[in-house]
Amino acid sequence: MKLHVNNISFAYKNGTPALQNITFHTHEGDILAIVGQNGSGKSTLLKCLNRILKIKTGSIMIDNTPIQSFATNYLSRIIAYIPQTEEYIPGLNVFDTVLLGRKPYIRHTPTPQDLETVTQLLNRLELEKIAMRNLNTLSGGQQQRVFIARALAQQPKILLLDEPIANLDINKQMQVMKLLQQLTEEGMTIILTIHDINMAARFCNKALMLKLGELFASGRDSVYTPENIQTLYDTQVDILHHNNRIYVIPK
Ligand code: ADP
Ligand code: MG
Repeated sequence: MKLHVNNISFAYKNGTPALQNITFHTHEGDILAIVGQNGSGKSTLLKCLNRILKIKTGSIMIDNTPIQSFATNYLSRIIAYIPQTEEYIPGLNVFDTVLLGRKPYIRHTPTPQDLETVTQLLNRLELEKIAMRNLNTLSGGQQQRVFIARALAQQPKILLLDEPIANLDINKQMQVMKLLQQLTEEGMTIILTIHDINMAARFCNKALMLKLGELFASGRDSVYTPENIQTLYDTQVDILHHNNRIYVIPK
């Protein structure tokens, strides 16, 4: 599916303009990194895309239809969102948590097909052995995989993730980023916020650079210039190119 974000702006009730005139497009198979300092508007942008926040101006279109015209259930079949800090229902086990992702499809009770979808996702995310465990007994990495599985149970075309690797060790970071890459190879569009600029450059084919709610650079590998990174983080860096990869190294 094509996502077209055209000139959107958003301000919170206290008047702070959190996003100003943001424009970008994504296609099937894109994995887009939203980067920028704390408070630059990354989470706000994800929430606008998911309609949790209502934009004041501009438009967000999926395959040429504005997102505000979709019924909630239908939107949940197209877009899944994993917030930075996820809340879960205490006492619910892994299987039932992932099953919640089927909600946009379930009329009264889950069908055998719904249960099968959940079982397949538990296998894919290596959660089958802990399917009956309560979420509060899991490690951060395991919980993260449960939330990804729940989002995938929605069978979304577009997956939004807010800092999905922020609290993971490097092994779990790679696991998550490789999974996201596989999902894009299957045709999904992924949009994520990320602080690790090297992981962004390695795994994401596009990037948006946000500063104080404004988009000052966007595009593919060519956005990773010392000038852009310095504007982004107020930090001087060297950019190295090695084996077709980009490495950002603070000076
Ligand atoms: P990031 O995710 O890049 O750290 P956010 O999108 O969370 O940035 O925040 C962007 C700006 O909006 C910041 O100035 C932040 O203080 C402000 N902001 C975020 N959430 C709220 C809110 N619920 N009410 C008012 N201001 C907010
Ligand atoms: Mg944030």
